[in-house]
Amino acid sequence: MSDENRKALIVVDVQNDFCPGGSLAVTNGDEVVAALNALAKAFLARGEPVFKTRDWHPARTKHFAKYGGTWPIHCVQGTPGAEFHADLIDDPCITIISKGTTEGADGYSGFDGTSLARLLREKGVAEVWVGGLATDYCVKHTVLDARREGFEVKALADAMRAVNLNPNDGRQAIEEMREAGAEIVGNEKLGV
Ligand SMILES: [Zn+2]
Repeated sequence: MSDENRKALIVVDVQNDFCPGGSLAVTNGDEVVAALNALAKAFLARGEPVFKTRDWHPARTKHFAKYGGTWPIHCVQGTPGAEFHADLIDDPCITIISKGTTEGADGYSGFDGTSLARLLREKGVAEVWVGGLATDYCVKHTVLDARREGFEVKALADAMRAVNLNPNDGRQAIEEMREAGAEIVGNEKLGV
């Protein structure tokens, strides 16, 4: 545990509602599963921590357009849409982080109102690798908060997909991550 470069993988919101067929589907969102599974297996095999975050909203929340927010209803606690994609790796060693769990919370970041930063520090993690859904919201905010919390960050450019409400949102989010000090890496470099 004294390894100064100890790493953790954070898989952001690979849930049914964000994948094709879901209520807030990200185009090609399910394409992130294979690369993230491969990375998760490698991390687990080395005894390095893996986290899966999930949007875990109450049925009524200001996050939803119906109640004054931005988004269609998605990832309501206990519903099929909130479940992880069926092909996403499942392992008892993986820690699940629920976010956006209260009526006032957007929960874009895996660090927002969760124990993620504390758990990472307890495990002696210095660097986090982040991928998942969606590039321009929950991945971006998780990456920016990880930097704010003092972690080195590798943002997994090929293992994330964007909502792109505006066509350049994904690209812009990548730039924001880079400017915040995250290293942007593609699959080729990771060997997955
Ligand atoms: Zn949400």
